[in-house]
Amino acid sequence: MSTSAALQTCPCQTNPASETTTAPLLYKDCCQPYHDSLLNKEADDIKAKTAERLMRTRYSAFVLIKPEYIVKTTLPAQQSLLDVTAIEEWATKTDWAGLEVVEHRAKLGKRHAQVEFKAYFRTPNGLQAHHELSAFVKVVSKAHHDARWYFLDPTVPMTVTQKQPCICGSGEKFKRCCGLYS
Ligand SMILES: [Zn+2]
Ligand SMILES: [Zn+2]
Repeated sequence: MSTSAALQTCPCQTNPASETTTAPLLYKDCCQPYHDSLLNKEADDIKAKTAERLMRTRYSAFVLIKPEYIVKTTLPAQQSLLDVTAIEEWATKTDWAGLEVVEHRAKLGKRHAQVEFKAYFRTPNGLQAHHELSAFVKVVSKAHHDARWYFLDPTVPMTVTQKQPCICGSGEKFKRCCGLYS
């Protein structure tokens, strides 16, 4: 990562729908520590404390074309099913224009959250937005007493049945856990 990107406004801090004048965070003070933590083994281990924080870092990773970050922040059971090349191509060809977090439903049940957002992009016909409601799941590793949020990708075909243990490893049945949000 070049120094110049670090000192620019973080991609997730640009909201075309907002007129507010609060000072936006620089990339180095916003999403960069999270990107470095997952992509660079020497960096400190920094985890997103909320689903919204994770969602913002994923948006910035699309803008800055870091497909590996998109993969590593998706639920581990889904990671091998993602098409990294397709993610990279889509990130590259999209002319990103900013992010608006519409609503952060921070606590849904024991381990889920949803973030409603608009990811803006420029087209020859003007500004458009992907308006999405994304689901996230908090996975607790028993060995480390450590919890980490992951994106639950609804487009990944999972072979799990409703009555099998959930793909997130919670020990609950899929239909009572991530099945409710995917
Ligand atoms: Zn950011
Ligand atoms: Zn689950």
